[in-house]
Amino acid sequence: MNEHILVVEDEEKLARFIELELNHEGYEVSKAFDGRTALEMAESNDYSLILLDIMLPELNGLEVLRRLSKSHPTPVILLTARDAVMDKVAGLDAGAVDYITKPFAIEELLARIRVALKLHGGATAVSAAETSEKAEGIYTWKDLVLDEPKHRVTYGGQEINLTNREFIMLKVLLMNKDIVLSRDTLLEKVCGYDYVGETNVVDVYVRFLRTKIDETFGIKMIQTVRGVGYVIKSE
Ligand code: CA
Repeated sequence: MNEHILVVEDEEKLARFIELELNHEGYEVSKAFDGRTALEMAESNDYSLILLDIMLPELNGLEVLRRLSKSHPTPVILLTARDAVMDKVAGLDAGAVDYITKPFAIEELLARIRVALKLHGGATAVSAAETSEKAEGIYTWKDLVLDEPKHRVTYGGQEINLTNREFIMLKVLLMNKDIVLSRDTLLEKVCGYDYVGETNVVDVYVRFLRTKIDETFGIKMIQTVRGVGYVIKSE
């Protein structure tokens, strides 16, 4: 059965472009051009995922998300403007599983959709373990466990002390396993969009993580992708 994705985007050209790309990848697509229609469609259909622009006529994306997520298990990825950091925070608080900043590379959007469908269900079967793992904010890689509610990281049961930013960096990498994250993306997620400074702080945090984890336990967790960024690959 094909995954069915609802694309909510009032720029009709962009919506059609996304539709074509998603069709090409084998997804079934429905489109809505305003928030109210989107909400109606989302409530009367069973989509695998909703791609939701924030700036929409009638009802904005955040409002759609708030009204939806009370009863709705469908994962939502937000489309946000580059300067809308508050929207991103509010969106994630309101239950979006991810966001992507416009303008985006279609490959990145497709990668994020694949990850969201894998982590948050949809038509393809997701094991109960994976679902509950996600629901509880626990991320794993080999013997490493990042427990977000407890703000605790262990490797083979041995506790690793991380600073807040190292913790966030590790979480972001674990949440996006197999997706190469650029320094800019990591910087934005770890330090916030308003951070003014060098992107090489990302390299510094990666070095700290490697010292505390990779070197301590003799593993190679965080991979460098030359000229692009960093990734943690699935085992
Ligand atoms: Ca818009």
